[in-house]
Amino acid sequence: MKGKKIIIAIDGYSSTGKSSFARKIAQKSSYIYVDTGAMYRAVTLYCIENNLVNDCGLNVDKIIENLKKINIEFIFNSTCEKSETFLNGKNVENKIRNVEVSNYVSAISAIPEVRAQMVALQQAMGKNKGIVMDGRDIGTVVFPDAEIKIFMTAKPEIRAIRRYTELLQNGENVTLQEIEKNIRERDYIDTHRETSPLKKADDAIILDNSNISIDEQMQWFDKIFQSVIKKQ
Ligand code: C5P
Repeated sequence: MKGKKIIIAIDGYSSTGKSSFARKIAQKSSYIYVDTGAMYRAVTLYCIENNLVNDCGLNVDKIIENLKKINIEFIFNSTCEKSETFLNGKNVENKIRNVEVSNYVSAISAIPEVRAQMVALQQAMGKNKGIVMDGRDIGTVVFPDAEIKIFMTAKPEIRAIRRYTELLQNGENVTLQEIEKNIRERDYIDTHRETSPLKKADDAIILDNSNISIDEQMQWFDKIFQSVIKKQ
């Protein structure tokens, strides 16, 4: 994949395989990959660890007050295969994927001040282009002028099985029912929040990967990439 560098924005529902797809595209094109879900997850982990959230709800004022103390970075691992998420200097790549973080992340992501801080960081990361970013508002808010926008979807029950398998592999003790419930709840909050809800950008191309493999998705993407890059 050669030519002028562009921005590739990938949005979609929870557990549609956005990260695996985006990571592969970035590897193939030597672009930077940014998992914006990891950023919101890191903020959520900070809130959990600092008692800013519990079963009774969120302490929104305190969360906003603490935002300036949250530093998020992506650093390549020792084999340089994958960049990992660091929160205030600590590697939290695995911790941010746990069920407790998943249960709170969508509520915390709905706070406008949290979004403003993350969006500013994401825009700074993409200022030189050559970036693949996945999330919920990348094509609509973060990079509305992205050259390629993809909106990913898949049947909720298929997404739940994929996520469940992934969590079991990470040693988490979870049931398929609780994972499906979490996915449906996150979809609901993400699509109904007031600030930058998850929605397809008008110019995004839909990718429903319920029944297609990652290799087939890459072949599909390559054709789009080639035709866009020719026009640059
Ligand atoms: O992508 P992932 O499922 O890890 O994202 C976790 C949560 O972070 C989402 O359910 C959503 O609430 C939030 N998020 C967001 N905007 C983004 C990326 C993620 O609100 N750009």
